[in-house]
Amino acid sequence: MLEKDIERVLISEEEIHTRVKEIGAALTKDYEGKTPLVVGVLTGAVPFLADLVRQMDLFVEMDFMDVSSYGDALVSSGEVKIIKDLDTNVAGRDLIIVEDIIDSGRTLNYLVELFKYRQANSVKIVTLLDKPEGRVVDLHADYYGFHVPNEFVVGFGLDYKQMYRNLPFVGVLKPEIYQ
Ligand code: 5GP
Ligand code: MG
Ligand code: MG
Repeated sequence: MLEKDIERVLISEEEIHTRVKEIGAALTKDYEGKTPLVVGVLTGAVPFLADLVRQMDLFVEMDFMDVSSYGDALVSSGEVKIIKDLDTNVAGRDLIIVEDIIDSGRTLNYLVELFKYRQANSVKIVTLLDKPEGRVVDLHADYYGFHVPNEFVVGFGLDYKQMYRNLPFVGVLKPEIYQ
C-alpha cells in the first residue's frame, strides 16, 4: 500500500539491519563500563533508536528531545526550536545523541552546544543517514549508517508530511506525491 508511492529504494531493510548491528557492537565496545544516556531526537530517530539500543550490550538510559527546524517544508528554515526538552539532568553524563539524518548539521550543532553548556561529560552523535553535501555548519557524526545523496528521502523514521516513517526501508518518493 505505502510502497506504491516509492520511486526507488535506496537502502533495504536487510542493509539497515546489518549496519545497525555493526554500530551497536561498536557502541558496546566504546562505552564498556559506562552507563550512557541515549538521547533520541523525535520523531525521526525512533525506529533506528529502538533497533540500535537492542544491539547494545550495556546498561543504558533513554530520553527524548523534540526540536523543530523544518516544519513540513522540504528545506531547512535554519531555526532550531525546543518543542520538548529532556527529563534527565545531563550534567556529568555520557550522551549518545541518536538522529535519523544529518543534512545542514544545524539541529545537531545546536544540541551538541546545548548539552556542552549543560555540562555533559561527553557528547557523541549517531545518525542513521548522513547527507554530507547538505552541510552548512562544520559537524560530523561519530557513528553513521549510510551516506545518502542530496535528495529528499523517506522511511525508517523519515517523514514526508509526518507520513512514511513506518516504511521498513529508506527510499525516494515518486515526484507526483509532492504535487
Ligand atoms: P539539519 O538540521 O541537519 O539540516 O536537519 C536535520 C533534520 O532535517 C532531520 O532530523 C530530519 O528531520 C530533516 N531532514 C533532513 N533531510 C531530510 C530528508 O531527506 N528527508 C526527511 N524526511 N527529512 C530530512
Ligand atoms: Mg530528525
Ligand atoms: Mg521531518
